[in-house]
Amino acid sequence: MGNWQVTGLDPNYNRDVELILQLFMQSKVVTKSDDIEGRLEFQLSYEGSTIQVNVRVLGQTQPLQGTGIYTHVLTSQLSEKEQRKQIKQAISHALLQALEKLTSVQQPWGILTGVRPTKLYHRLLLEGRTDAETRHHLTEKYRLVPEKTSLLQEIVARQRAALPDLYDLRREVSLYIGIPFCPTKCAYCTFPAYAIQGRNGSVEAFLEGLHQEVRVIGKWLTDHHCKVTTLYVGGGTPTSLESDQLDALFTTLTETIPDYDQIREVTVEAGRPDTLEAAKLDVLRKWKVDRISINPQSFRDETLRSIGRHHTVAETLDAYERAREMGFDNINMDLIIGLPDEDLTIFEESLQVIERLRPESLTVHTLSFKRGSTMTQKRGDYQVAERDEIAQMVKRAREWTAEQAYFPYYLYRQKNILGNQENVGYSIEGKESLYNIIIMEELQTIIGLGCGAVSKLVSPYHRKIDRYANPKEPQAYIDTYQTHIQGKLAVLDQLFDL
Ligand code: SF4
Repeated sequence: MGNWQVTGLDPNYNRDVELILQLFMQSKVVTKSDDIEGRLEFQLSYEGSTIQVNVRVLGQTQPLQGTGIYTHVLTSQLSEKEQRKQIKQAISHALLQALEKLTSVQQPWGILTGVRPTKLYHRLLLEGRTDAETRHHLTEKYRLVPEKTSLLQEIVARQRAALPDLYDLRREVSLYIGIPFCPTKCAYCTFPAYAIQGRNGSVEAFLEGLHQEVRVIGKWLTDHHCKVTTLYVGGGTPTSLESDQLDALFTTLTETIPDYDQIREVTVEAGRPDTLEAAKLDVLRKWKVDRISINPQSFRDETLRSIGRHHTVAETLDAYERAREMGFDNINMDLIIGLPDEDLTIFEESLQVIERLRPESLTVHTLSFKRGSTMTQKRGDYQVAERDEIAQMVKRAREWTAEQAYFPYYLYRQKNILGNQENVGYSIEGKESLYNIIIMEELQTIIGLGCGAVSKLVSPYHRKIDRYANPKEPQAYIDTYQTHIQGKLAVLDQLFDL
């Protein structure tokens, strides 16, 4: 991690500078250090309402030398916050320009960091812009390349076709249920997921709290005549639970959630194939679960071992076949690009298996070194593909899905994602996950129940979004769920203001 110093700027902009720098190199902005990789010398000058940003990049240990210049006319009558945003954008533009020239790497997402691109696209449409105006805005203001603006246009159009009332769903809610258990913990994982073995007592105590949370929220929904659009059971791996525990959970859900049978989509994350015995699939069929996820991540046993998944490719294929035989007709599979020792050839082999299986949807993630994961703590132990090869794999995923009539319908980016790429959800026509669209675009409240579940509270009346987080750790949840139920009811009452 290289240290960079910034001169000529209010230090409040250091984080914004760092985000652009990190698109190109592992680096951080420091105010004091003897061990400096380089300096960024900024000069801001104003003439009337025009701001000009000049930046010089001066590498100490590498022969980096370059400049960027950006001129921007500040809109008149700006609030202090808005003015800061515009100055930040001008700084980011100048720095991006300098670094792109220096490295010959073009950033496809331009200066867009920390904002979900499709969410921004929806916002621009909701402000009254056409698609053409929105794309122009994204190119001018954020320097997105045309390939990305057309991808966003396609995704947003698919989302609106799947959920024609997407912009009018604020009086309904969706539900998320977090089951914090998995057979083992994967090396790249930062989800609230705890190995289930030996936890029998705490699983039961957790479920007791969860049932109570479901009942209380079910009553709140009934009292407020609030409909549920989608229900997603995730975690963790919900199918780590025993079949009778899953059965009991769905019994409580169907008894307490008003108009349960009108929920548009019920999904259960069955991510780990090693949890999918026939008895559990039977329970999911019995309760008419619409969509399940069986996640291979890779079709290479060595990779699965090295990332700590502790299941085999054969188990994935068996679980998939069993689910098909039992009548599941909406199955999602996840693949991860950039897993250790995997290259384009291996990724291509995974795509060939997917071609044979033909799940209804395919989510293609790019590996992200998340803070707190085992893989990040031991990053030196893992050999991963270089930026160019990652880009080739992402491109190949895009081409392959188009050839196979899978269409992109949601997209998100993460910090520390390899090669500054993105995660994309593809599906065949009409099998888009409605829940995924809703959670990505934040146009509806999602009430989170269970461990690590974060409620997203989208006001029906204005653009404000708040969050309410349940504890991540099972014991903390068991100890405090009563308090959290009351806390959540209070924020829901306030939000819906009835
Ligand atoms: S199966 Fe999913 S939730 Fe569980 S440890 Fe692995 S990545 Fe995390």
